[in-house]
Amino acid sequence: MTRPRFDRILLKLSGEVLMGARQFGIDPETVDRVATEIAAIHGAGYQLCIVVGGGNIFRGLAGAARGIERATGDYMGMLATVMNALAVQSALERQGVVTRVQSAIPMASVCEPFIRRRAERHLEKGRVVIFAAGVGSPFFTTDSGAALRAAEMKCNALFKGTSVDGVYDADPKKVPDAKRYDEVSFNTVLAQDLKVMDASAVALCRDNDIPIVVFNIREQGNLAKVLAGEGVATIVR
Ligand code: UDP
Repeated sequence: MTRPRFDRILLKLSGEVLMGARQFGIDPETVDRVATEIAAIHGAGYQLCIVVGGGNIFRGLAGAARGIERATGDYMGMLATVMNALAVQSALERQGVVTRVQSAIPMASVCEPFIRRRAERHLEKGRVVIFAAGVGSPFFTTDSGAALRAAEMKCNALFKGTSVDGVYDADPKKVPDAKRYDEVSFNTVLAQDLKVMDASAVALCRDNDIPIVVFNIREQGNLAKVLAGEGVATIVR
């Protein structure tokens, strides 16, 4: 299958990716490896936005199960994404990549607030912009944040780095003969509730015509391969 090439992309890194093989938190070696791969594609001339998740540290739903009010837990989750964003920033800067973190929840001493035109300027200057705190509101996820920022920043595609090599018609970890799609439509993903991103994020990408490329970021070198239109991935469009 030939896949289109993109020049400005948004990369969504879930907390799970940053956790590596750990059960919780940030795995510095994994973050460094991912940063090396991001630095390579940045060096190849792609304009890059990154949205980081926070599930490796805190999820509002998990907090709610233990009695923390859902909205409060969600704010805690958003704060977790800021910690991840700083870890990714630090790893990228060790690779010589100039970055800026912008948070949807203003945090003046820590990073910039999200300002779309300012983010645009950073991209024009060749900086990588890391967006933290999702959309800045509870009851959302960083997948929705990724779809929203991809639309606002006019990204050609949203690359969702996961621990599987694409979208399957059933959970490949549970159903051994689950079929992987090379390409699948937004509407099929929504109608069959396929596990790509949450439904509001998928709908936002559909309505703004932003393809979602789902690939395994744990596999060394895969990011560059998939970006070049090679490598195993599913494109949702
Ligand atoms: N969150 C939120 N609003 C947002 C983004 C995130 O309330 O716009 C909270 C929510 O509690 C979520 C947590 O932050 O569970 C961590 O984000 P997410 O679960 O999307 O992280 P990931 O699964 O990508 O690691």
